[in-house]
Amino acid sequence: MIDATMEQNRSGFWRNLALWKKILIGMALGMLVGIVMGPDAELLKPLGTLFVNAIKMLIVPLVFCSLVVGVTSMQDTRQLGRIGLKSLVLYMATTAVAITIGLGMGSVFMPGEGVNMVASDGAIAAKEAPAMVQTLLDMIPKNPISALAAGNILQIIVFALGLGIALNLCGDKGRPAVAMFESLAEAMYKMTELVMKLAPYGVFGLMAWVAGKYGIEILLPLIKVIAVVYLCCVIHVLVVYTGMISLIGRLNPVRYLKGLVNPAAVAFTTTSSSGTLPATIKAAQQELGVSKGISSFVLPLGATINMDGTALYQGVCALFIAQAFGIDLELSDYLLIIMTSTLASIGTAGVPGAGLIMLSLVLTTVGLPMEGLAIVAGIDRILDMARTSVNVCGDLAVSVLVGKSEGELDTTIYDRIGGSAKET
Ligand code: ASP
Repeated sequence: MIDATMEQNRSGFWRNLALWKKILIGMALGMLVGIVMGPDAELLKPLGTLFVNAIKMLIVPLVFCSLVVGVTSMQDTRQLGRIGLKSLVLYMATTAVAITIGLGMGSVFMPGEGVNMVASDGAIAAKEAPAMVQTLLDMIPKNPISALAAGNILQIIVFALGLGIALNLCGDKGRPAVAMFESLAEAMYKMTELVMKLAPYGVFGLMAWVAGKYGIEILLPLIKVIAVVYLCCVIHVLVVYTGMISLIGRLNPVRYLKGLVNPAAVAFTTTSSSGTLPATIKAAQQELGVSKGISSFVLPLGATINMDGTALYQGVCALFIAQAFGIDLELSDYLLIIMTSTLASIGTAGVPGAGLIMLSLVLTTVGLPMEGLAIVAGIDRILDMARTSVNVCGDLAVSVLVGKSEGELDTTIYDRIGGSAKET
């Protein structure tokens, strides 16, 4: 009898715990189990894969429906243009600051000093820079159905914007379709909520796998570059984003930090900002009070083009490789790194490891040895975890600021003390 009551209390404790706490517990336990089990922890990876697949399943319908609804809720096309412009300016500016932090810290801490580079077998080929005009042309889907099937977010954004604007212009005749998209978008939000309940277990599986795979022995020689990338990430979130939130948005930065815990933890363990998108949209709306219209437009755009974490990682790694090879960089090289890293981060897909491929572009442009890539590749997952979290935190910060400036931030939700009313 007493046992049964204790059992009930225990399961009640877990059930009543806020999701973000469960996710953090899952992460910590996963790390512990991974360290204890070593490479055998790969056994637990399917738990993570299950969660990742479930959340990926939501991306295309969620982005498409919520973006159409976002546009149809803004009858004023000028507002749409204004929001797009504000988001782009903020995205670009924060990216430039991120690389500068990366280069600054890389110069101060010199992570590459004393590292003996081993020549790679040349297996990693440089990525060619796509032509600018082609990139722009490719944003327009020749066939929207295949864009949806392929999950090409930029093409989906363009088509959804077009469809939303057309529905607005249709007036009464567009109403039934708008109502259908509204109802589908609601269903997708609900489904996201359900899938997020799996997050603590998925995060546990992924964390155990990563911690088991990279033992301390693999990490030690490169601990300095890992530490510098993590330090830059922390500075970028704690100084740049919270600074913007309090100075530009005149909002309490602690609330912003609290609101980003869930998506940041999902990003940290899945290393995919596109994959995290459903969790990011949910947090923006339910934790931070950003309107559906703004969040459904600003966040998918950010998940595709705004990669501050990736940009600062490229800055640190370029310096790391130059230092390890004893190559002195000139001021012009630094400027080149800033320029190419900005462009490379925009072109980076929000999927695991994409930043590493784009790093090859930065290295070729600056004339740094490709062999360096092989070393970074060995620890890339660890770096990817931090940079993806920053990418997602950046998208959230911009959505809050744009929402606030458009009068589309529900401050009663944002200012809620101690988290959500309904703890999620
Ligand atoms: N994994 C990162 C993301 O999804 C991209 C990268 O590899 O830098 O945001």
